[in-house]
Amino acid sequence: MKIDIITLFPDMFDSPFAESIVRRASKKGIIQINTHNLRDFATDKRRTVDDKPYGGGAGMVLKPEPVYRAIRKIKSKNKGTEKSKILFLSPQGKLFDQKKAKELAKEKHLILICGHYEDIDARIMKFMDEEISIGDYVLTGGELPAMVLVDAVVRLIPGVVKEKESVIQDSFYSGLLDYPHYTRPRVFRKMKVPEALLSGNHEKIRLWRLKEALRNTYNKRPGLLKKTKM
Ligand code: SAM
Repeated sequence: MKIDIITLFPDMFDSPFAESIVRRASKKGIIQINTHNLRDFATDKRRTVDDKPYGGGAGMVLKPEPVYRAIRKIKSKNKGTEKSKILFLSPQGKLFDQKKAKELAKEKHLILICGHYEDIDARIMKFMDEEISIGDYVLTGGELPAMVLVDAVVRLIPGVVKEKESVIQDSFYSGLLDYPHYTRPRVFRKMKVPEALLSGNHEKIRLWRLKEALRNTYNKRPGLLKKTKM
């Protein structure tokens, strides 16, 4: 999968994408992430990308032309390849969840646009396929949401996480929350690891985990049970 990110702060992505699973996926060639500095698509000497809002009011608005030029350039470079999906990160978008992550993990090319300041000129929305929000709160820019989206999507691409089972068991994948996990020592401050997990009996362990996943979901997110096909 190819992921192009249009941002005012490309350096913000260096560290998160240079670690762990995203790094491994890049090294294996499963994903290719490119960041593009929006200022490179300004046409004046001062590399202006924002301006005052029409109608007055606080803050600045990102101009539509640099964003449009950035999209055009990225798309022209990918001519002949599969269709690109253009996503604008926005608190007004559809709430990002595991279902959306699964859906996006099947795409061949994502273009992510990170907003900033008050927002982007509304006319650029015509060129977006979707607006995606990572939660009902407002962040300073679309960079952190883009990182969240990339991380959640990339770990679902086949071959990225070594053991497929670990992804399938994660919370939300099948509609339930994950079961509790334990490691050594067997006893920690008088608390024991559940017997079933020490039994070596695979069926017993499977049933214990299923029961605990159901209990976790019932206690923490009961609403999920209504949506899950048992
Ligand atoms: N004025 C906008 C509003 O109220 O809808 C918020 C602008 S916010 C300060 C600047 C940028 O951060 C947005 O254009 C968007 O790209 C990004 N952003 C902020 N919160 C977000 C969220 N919850 N999910 C996705 N993107 C977000």
